[in-house]
Amino acid sequence: MKYVLSHLSEIKKMIEEESGPALLLDFDGVLSAIAPTPAEAFISEENKKLVKACAERFPVAVITGRKLTEIKEKIGITGLLFVASHGLEWEENGKHHIKPIPKETIEAINLAKEKIRPLMSSYPGMIYEDKSFMFAVHYRIMNKELVDAFIKEITSILEPIVKQHKLRLDHNLMTFELRPEINWDKGDSVLFAKEYFQKKGKRKEKPIPIYIGDSDTDEDAFVALKENGITIRVGKTKKSSAKWYMSDQKEVGVFLKWLLSLQLPPI
Ligand SMILES: [Mg+2]
Repeated sequence: MKYVLSHLSEIKKMIEEESGPALLLDFDGVLSAIAPTPAEAFISEENKKLVKACAERFPVAVITGRKLTEIKEKIGITGLLFVASHGLEWEENGKHHIKPIPKETIEAINLAKEKIRPLMSSYPGMIYEDKSFMFAVHYRIMNKELVDAFIKEITSILEPIVKQHKLRLDHNLMTFELRPEINWDKGDSVLFAKEYFQKKGKRKEKPIPIYIGDSDTDEDAFVALKENGITIRVGKTKKSSAKWYMSDQKEVGVFLKWLLSLQLPPI
């Protein structure tokens, strides 16, 4: 991985060779700093201004695991492409789309929700986040002494349910997340956004996707854009498919500012 702010001329060249950038952004840990609870995460006024300015110059999408209604409220900018709930729903031009989920899968998730929610009384600091057809459980603010037992208990409840149904369980950044396995991950979400912008653009040349993400679930997106894209991970890690990294979330604003300073063809 290369430090992105030291290789901006290389990135500039890649953008110039194509028809400008299409900016694809994760929310948590990228536009917002990681907050103790999901509700507390917010986009700073500075980043909001930058994203708005970017959207006036080139296509911008927000790719997130959060629900569509929630991410729209958090971002507060209209006219972006939103790919939410890990690609289960998206909105373009104010039009809401949902992917069909089998009834049996929804029932299995509801069963898991019923079993997990009551754990809150035994584990103070557990945060349960209901996301309609999926859910997440965070233990970032839990007392460290409880964490091992908590992980063991939650895994023993969820693993059998995951095995029996088409579900996907992720455990990353002190968060468990259970969702339908619909063979759709952030990789599919970024390819969807990339194709959407390429079809929408009037020019023959296609914009080059730039994806910025910060966690292991973003690795699918980095892999998907390996051949034709600019992939940046927030936080240097030993193993990542992203070509570049940023030291921390604050550098996202620095990068967006740089992007805005480029002479780019109009969209
Ligand atoms: Mg993230």
